[in-house]
Amino acid sequence: MGPCCRWMLAVWCVQVCSSGAAQVSAFSTAYINVSFVPPESNRTIWRREEMGLYGIESPTYPVTGTVYLADPIHACANDTRFERPPSSAPWVALVQRGNGCTFTYKINAAARNGASAAVIFNDYGTDNRVIQMSHPGTSIVAVMIGNARGMELVELLQNDVSVSMTIEVGLQRGLWMSHYSVLFISISFFIITTATVCYFIFYFAQRLNNIRRRNHKQKQMKAKAKKAIGQLKVRTLKQGDQETGPDADSCAVCIESYKPGDVLSVLTCNHFFHKACVEPWLMEHRTCPMCKCDILKALGVEMDVEEQHMPTVTSDLHSFPSSTEYLHTHSESVSNTHPNSESHTHSDAASSGYESLHATEQLGPAEHTREGLEAVCVEMQPHYDNPAFENEARS
Ligand SMILES: [Zn+2]
Ligand SMILES: [Zn+2]
Repeated sequence: MGPCCRWMLAVWCVQVCSSGAAQVSAFSTAYINVSFVPPESNRTIWRREEMGLYGIESPTYPVTGTVYLADPIHACANDTRFERPPSSAPWVALVQRGNGCTFTYKINAAARNGASAAVIFNDYGTDNRVIQMSHPGTSIVAVMIGNARGMELVELLQNDVSVSMTIEVGLQRGLWMSHYSVLFISISFFIITTATVCYFIFYFAQRLNNIRRRNHKQKQMKAKAKKAIGQLKVRTLKQGDQETGPDADSCAVCIESYKPGDVLSVLTCNHFFHKACVEPWLMEHRTCPMCKCDILKALGVEMDVEEQHMPTVTSDLHSFPSSTEYLHTHSESVSNTHPNSESHTHSDAASSGYESLHATEQLGPAEHTREGLEAVCVEMQPHYDNPAFENEARS
């Protein structure tokens, strides 16, 4: 399982847990059925409205009874009373919110007086908005209704109108954002974010370290390659050398004919080129431009297994013109400036060199072919007809 999958699984788990926590804190609305006979008429008025909200700790079952008002109305006093005739019939206590005591206190005051349910109406100025009350330590049904509806009931009761009430359970809804779920989601989010950030910091630190190690290795390889190339035999051409003759080959890298005074590097395969041409070439390609022998390998510079999968050209090596580019531009400039027969042979050589380079580059991955040749390259001892051969090693 990849790290990405693991993270997605973790996020999914947290989401499932948090939705579970949100469902635990569901809330129930309450239908309040009120019936009374107004003093000016003999008709009973019925009203049914889903306007209440059960408290968190309230049992959710229906209750029916006559409504009695608390005295004092906030039920915060020790001697809170409910003016009602002595009877064992179930009744509902009506209490106003606020005045410095808790919901638990108000509800327990009602319970002490024998109420089956406590209906608490909201503060002044809250219209008909309700909240879900928290009232640990109570046992009777507790419902909150809006201030406007509560005040209507208070007015009726204060005018000695008998009010009957039935509280019914309304819709039970999942509360998406309770305090606990908000806290839980916040903590989960924080943990996931922190873990993700830590993971990415770790990941990028590791990558940075790898890059640094690789750069260090490449630098070492480059230094080794430079040192090895410096050990190649060097000769300076003199007047009358057969390489400077009209039938002699030209340098396969720059396609220039050899002239007296040119400094040549002789590779382990006995092919020779301009020193200035072949050194950057070897740094970039490792192999002889003509026969594809791995010259650096022959000189004892082995490529790492890790190195083989990486681009071998480091950024500062880009300053050398790439072989094909160099050949191409050079052949063009030659044919443009010398439109004679000699220039034609140059551009022919250039194009053939260009093609052969392309062909051999495609041949590149066939390592065994190269190794077969390489044995020959390493075994063969260089022989020079030219007495001007200089055996000096560049350091
Ligand atoms: Zn050259
Ligand atoms: Zn060669």
